[in-house]
Amino acid sequence: MKQGNPDVFPVAARQGLPSGDGGTGTLVRYLVLSDLHSNWQALEAVIAAAAGHYDRALCCGDLVGYGADPNAVVDWVRANCAAVIRGNHDRAWKAEEDLGWFNPVARHAALWTGRALTSENAAYVTALAKGPLLVDGFQLTHGSPYDEDEYMMSAEEAVLAFEYLETRLAFFGHTHLQGGFIWNHGRVETISPFWQGFYPDLMRVDGDCGYLVNPGSVGQPRDGDPRAAYLIYDSGAAAVEYYRVAYDVETAQRRIREAGLPPILADRLSEGR
Ligand code: ZN
Repeated sequence: MKQGNPDVFPVAARQGLPSGDGGTGTLVRYLVLSDLHSNWQALEAVIAAAAGHYDRALCCGDLVGYGADPNAVVDWVRANCAAVIRGNHDRAWKAEEDLGWFNPVARHAALWTGRALTSENAAYVTALAKGPLLVDGFQLTHGSPYDEDEYMMSAEEAVLAFEYLETRLAFFGHTHLQGGFIWNHGRVETISPFWQGFYPDLMRVDGDCGYLVNPGSVGQPRDGDPRAAYLIYDSGAAAVEYYRVAYDVETAQRRIREAGLPPILADRLSEGR
C-alpha cells in the first residue's frame, strides 16, 4: 500500500487532466474501443452508433482471437484508429510461449487466427506497440500499466496500478468489464456504469482525481450484458460517456460455428459471458 500523503496523486508526473485540446488546439472527442476479438458484427454496430460523435478512434488491444472475422476487424482498425496498442491475443497466435498460458479454447482460436489473417494484417498485428502508450495527455494500456497481461478486476488491484500511471487518466481493457476505477484522495473506488441499467451513462472527470477507465469489450462482453460496449471521451467537456449497443449476435455466432471454432465461443456471446 502507498505510504505518505494520501492527498497527493501517486504518479511521478503529477500533471492535471488532459487540457481539453488534445494537444492539437481543438477539442477532441475520442471513441475508445477494446477487446474487439474478431467480432465484425459487433464492431460494425459500434461504428454505426458512434458515427458523427467522435473525432479520433483509439484501441486498447485484443483486435483478434475468439471470433471469426479477424481480417474485417483489423482492416477497420488499421484504416480508422489513430492509436492502437497490442493485447495478449494479438501476440498469442504467433508466440508458442504465450499460447502456453491459454486454455484449450483460446489456444484453438489463436492458432485459427494465425491461419486466417492475411499477411498484411498479420504484419500489422505483429508490429502493434506494447502499452502503456501516451496519447494526447492520457495513456492507453491493455491490462495494467505495470503488466499488460494483468487483470485489474478489483479496486484493491487498481491501487498499485495508480502508482504506475504517468497521467491522471488512462484507458484499459483485458477484463471485458465496462467501468474502471477512480482514485479519490487516497481511496480507490470502482466505477459501475451499468448499475442503473441505462445508457449512455455520463461520468464527469475531476482534475483532483485519477481515472483508470475501461470501455468494456466490443466483441465479447463478460458482464452479463451481451451488447457491444464502448465509450466516448469528450476532452472538451471533461466527460466519459459509456455506451452499449445491440448487434447481430446470431450472425457472429453462425460465423464462429462455420469457421469450425469451438462452439462455446459462439454460445457465450448471447449471454455476455
Ligand atoms: Zn480480451
